[in-house]
Amino acid sequence: RKFNFSAGPAALPDEVLQQAQRDLCDWQGKGLSIMEMSHRSDEFVSVAQQAEQDLRDLMSIPDHYKVLFLQGGASSQFAMLPMNLLRGKQTADYINTGIWSKKAIAEASRYCTVNIAATTEAEHFLRAPTPAEIQLSPDAAYLHYTSNETIGGVEFNYIPDSGSVPLIVDMSSDILSGPIDVSRFGVIYAGAQKNIGPAGLTVVIVREDLLGHTLAGTPTMYDYKVHAEGESMHNTPPTFAWYLSGLVFDWLKRQGGVAAMAEVNQRKAAKLYAAIDRSDFYANPVAIDSRSGMNVPFTLADAALDKLFLQQAEAAGLLNLKGHRSVGGMRASIYNAVPEAAVDALLTFMSEFETQHG
Ligand code: PLP
Repeated sequence: RKFNFSAGPAALPDEVLQQAQRDLCDWQGKGLSIMEMSHRSDEFVSVAQQAEQDLRDLMSIPDHYKVLFLQGGASSQFAMLPMNLLRGKQTADYINTGIWSKKAIAEASRYCTVNIAATTEAEHFLRAPTPAEIQLSPDAAYLHYTSNETIGGVEFNYIPDSGSVPLIVDMSSDILSGPIDVSRFGVIYAGAQKNIGPAGLTVVIVREDLLGHTLAGTPTMYDYKVHAEGESMHNTPPTFAWYLSGLVFDWLKRQGGVAAMAEVNQRKAAKLYAAIDRSDFYANPVAIDSRSGMNVPFTLADAALDKLFLQQAEAAGLLNLKGHRSVGGMRASIYNAVPEAAVDALLTFMSEFETQHG
């Protein structure tokens, strides 16, 4: 297998894919695959429950939080959040740090007045705001932020203070990259296809007291309480994605959990940024204390070389380094499943390319 730097759907651990391959036609000698089983069968329910327990263990999720395994992607959460969390209020605070924050804001604006509690837009989103820059409005229902802007490569290195209202985070691209204190949050949500598992699953971790206050007219499928009460089986859940994510959680535990992953992730990111900063040929514009540990965008000194860089990288077994279409350049996504050896191979390639073309 080659090294995959895709931002999402992203790399999965080799071991997990090998296990899935073994299970694919015959799950534990049952003579059928997990994909073909009823979600209400004892077999699937035990897979689902184990996955939830492993995620709870990995993130130390307190008992008064529900873990929901939903569909619709993080993008559906952009609407589900105001539908569930406004609780009679008309305003919500949002921090705007880039493309994904903006999408969340646009969707919330359909249901309430959005107050921009902080933004770095005037600085082209090249950093996260400082704690002192966050201005909460007096009547907001909650504060929302995006802990890691997958496209801009900007990550918060602290948890914002939301005062007396719930803090909501889109953690799609940095969930499980290191330890966090779940009790600081009202809701944590993440599309699975970056640092969890395959596309099709959305994980929502919600504090129990926030359930049951939906806006009038909220569709049944958009009500967190319905999914919490149905143990994420109100309708047919994304069984295969849930099962495979469970294998990833188990793999993470065997790696030593998120603290051990954080150490490797920090090493991977540090050596990649160091190489970029050392060179005049590569550049990353993000403020050092806001640089993402998961998504590392970088440009070449001459954009005319981008195509050649990508072609030669692919020939060297380094896949999906093209930057997001909205920003161009390159982006190396170095999620948990991207081994340190992948970053080392990328560094060797970048250095050789610079020698040839710099
Ligand atoms: N939020 C962030 C930070 C993302 O990176 C993405 C996807 O790339 C999304 C939200 C949207 O996720 P989905 O495609 O699951 O709706």
